Amino acid sequence: MTEALEAFRLETRDWLRANCPPGARGPGEIHSGSTKLSFQPDTIAWLESMADRGWTVPMWPEAYGGAGLTLEQTQVLYQEMQAIDARLPLVNMGTRMLGPTLLEYGSESQKLRHLPLIARGGAAWCQGYSEPGAGSDLAGLTTKAVLSGDQFVIHGQKIWTSGAQNADWMFCLVRTDPEAPKHQGISFVLLPMDQPGVTVKPIRLISGSSPFCETFLDGAIAEKSDLVGRLNEGWAIGKRLLQHERSGQGGLGPAPARSRPVGVTIDLEMPEVLNRYATDPAQKASQRDAVIRWQMRSRAFQLTQARMGQEVRDGKTPGAATSMFKLYGASLAQDKQSLTAELMGTQGIGWEAAGFTEEEIGATRSWLASRAVTIYGGTNEVQANIIAKRVLGLPD
Ligand SMILES: Cc1cc2nc3c(=O)[nH]c(=O)nc-3n(C[C@H](O)[C@H](O)[C@H](O)COP(=O)(O)OP(=O)(O)OC[C@H]3O[C@@H](n4cnc5c(N)ncnc54)[C@H](O)[C@@H]3O)c2cc1C
Repeated sequence: MTEALEAFRLETRDWLRANCPPGARGPGEIHSGSTKLSFQPDTIAWLESMADRGWTVPMWPEAYGGAGLTLEQTQVLYQEMQAIDARLPLVNMGTRMLGPTLLEYGSESQKLRHLPLIARGGAAWCQGYSEPGAGSDLAGLTTKAVLSGDQFVIHGQKIWTSGAQNADWMFCLVRTDPEAPKHQGISFVLLPMDQPGVTVKPIRLISGSSPFCETFLDGAIAEKSDLVGRLNEGWAIGKRLLQHERSGQGGLGPAPARSRPVGVTIDLEMPEVLNRYATDPAQKASQRDAVIRWQMRSRAFQLTQARMGQEVRDGKTPGAATSMFKLYGASLAQDKQSLTAELMGTQGIGWEAAGFTEEEIGATRSWLASRAVTIYGGTNEVQANIIAKRVLGLPD
């Protein structure tokens, strides 16, 4: 490590220790940037201090609310956060998906308008891609936008819109040329959620929560200045955003190890859990075997992620290869939850009845929620198709 990087580490360590409030350490709430939700005082204080330093989005340029850190400095920052169990100050689709896409494709005025607000946690974004008739075949979308003066007027329906009920803005794929071949008539627009033409209806999941919605667009307005890229050329931008999404899901790019979610009792990544199942002769051999196999896959995956990180020296999101990480990471995450439920026995299938702790009920919900990881961001089959065509070059 260079002297400059070591000096950065020491300075970062001191600052984090002095500024990270107790309520922002360990498992707990993370700010989403939504103006419609309330957050704990320590969550807000942590967001504000980190945003002041540009550390909510450390690698973005300073002009757009970041700190212009290098990949190495960002890794140091996250290592030091991890050392004190500091949570991320802000996580949402703005920081992880739209922001990196705007940095690549946005006009200067779009960057200045949207990125600093995202970096400060002043707006939450949602993703208007899927429709009732367009999921895996996303390019078949029919939500129509017609340019009228300086505005697009949008009619159609989106579905599975995560967080739409609390979002301030939506990035949205719309059809602007119904006559063109399907991939060529799509545009990428940004629109505010609080307007008469937008209605959201939350959908309840088997895990009991309502993280996503149906979103109805009946004459919704997007300003022409919020068209990203050129008219009818939004497909490439929409796909690039998916690569940023899958990169996050596949664990690429610098990121601190996540704090254990509240309610998780058995975490297969914790050494004490591994020891308990791997070395205790009272545990069934089949359980020991399953835990060790999962750990080996997880470790090999982490090493592959690290290797990819080194190959992409500038910290930029890779292209179609992100699908390999999304595919494998999703299966690994799902297998972890299923195995955890199995290890917990009957205590791992608690719902609301007496006899289960809050943590055990939380584990059941995490297991059920994990069914979705092989669907969102594009299903396993879709990732396998992308890998076949775009990475391995197999014929269509
Ligand atoms: C928790 C969660 C959050 C989500 N959040 C959002 C969001 O915020 N915004 C958003 O726009 N969308 C979101 N989605 C939607 C998600 O992107 C879609 O569900 C996904 O792309 C699949 O589309 P579909 O549901 O229409 O299934 P379909 O496309 O109908 O697929 C059904 C089945 O057929 C298979 N299949 C389809 N085509 C092929 C093919 N060519 N080859 C092989 N198999 C195929 C699929 O793999 C799947 O198993 C979310 C989904 C979930 C579960």
